[in-house]
Amino acid sequence: MSPSPRIEIDLGAIRSNSEFLVRKLSERNISVTGVTKGVSGNPEIAMAMLQGGILQLADSRVSNVRRLREAGFNCPITMIRTPLTSEVSAVIKHCETSYHSDVQTIERLANVAAIKKQHHGIVLMLDMGDGREGIYPKELVETVAFLDNISGVYFNGIATNFGCLSGIGPSSEQMAQFSELVIRSEKKCGRTLKLHSSGGSANILWALSSESKCRATNLRIGEAILLGVDPISELPINGLNQDAISLFAEVIECTPVEVLPEESAANNEMSSKLILAVGIIDTDVTGIKFQKDIEFIGATSDHLVVRSRNSAHRVGSEIKFSINYSALARAMAGPDVVQHVFNRN
Ligand SMILES: *Cc1c(COP(=O)(O)O)cnc(C)c1O
Repeated sequence: MSPSPRIEIDLGAIRSNSEFLVRKLSERNISVTGVTKGVSGNPEIAMAMLQGGILQLADSRVSNVRRLREAGFNCPITMIRTPLTSEVSAVIKHCETSYHSDVQTIERLANVAAIKKQHHGIVLMLDMGDGREGIYPKELVETVAFLDNISGVYFNGIATNFGCLSGIGPSSEQMAQFSELVIRSEKKCGRTLKLHSSGGSANILWALSSESKCRATNLRIGEAILLGVDPISELPINGLNQDAISLFAEVIECTPVEVLPEESAANNEMSSKLILAVGIIDTDVTGIKFQKDIEFIGATSDHLVVRSRNSAHRVGSEIKFSINYSALARAMAGPDVVQHVFNRN
């Protein structure tokens, strides 16, 4: 019997999702950066992304980047969260590039990079309406002028986010505005910049749509590679596998439930209350997708309580679930969820 709770990951599906996105987006002159934060920088999953043709990775946690470097990864890795003051040295050591929304942090990082004589690229984050990180577009020209002249680091380009905090995807107007900002920043520097990144998985549908015309040259993609869905709608993206990742949990208690007379009239199947050995310490239980015959009742630290109409469930049996991105990220970060990778193809 395999240990549980357990996340099973089909590396072949991750590879094929990466291949699909690299191929489709390259037709639009957009490169793909594989984002590994959803799987805590798991090296085997990161390797599957590279095998799918992705050339660079990104993560939001220094600990995950360190894990990748210790596993021998020498591809470019970008830090996509503005570094904490205490992380500046580690970011310079482990990442070729970092994303920023705070000028003071950039200055601090530039000083350290200059002392260490380390080449480091800066990408400036813009808030175009999502409401999370970034400077406002009206501050762009002034900030770019500052970045282009600061010594110690290299200004690589601009980036933005859609759908992270707001849950709203990009509009054509916003993408047109991003193109404008790219043009303005390149004009200010008097040269073509290395990379302009217009978002994450929430940007894929727009980027692949017929109307897409934008000066963006990169997307940073995690969720769509791992789960095959658009983060805004949670609906499948055509061409991607949605079954690369599953969560397995074991039944530790199974109690027949008394069926009420009005229920039995409609449905005379047996019903049972099940306790599964997975809880809110292990994952985001609100991100578990329950099959039709299972109904969520509640969850505590270590227990998930459901009602099941499937008589095959018994103590010791396992139930397989699909999960969303936050459930996956939490499960992969916790010490008690076993990670099992395999290759179906
Ligand atoms: C998490 C993150 C991404 C990747 O987002 P997905 O929805 O997983 O594709 C991209 N950029 C930044 C700044 C992020 O924090």
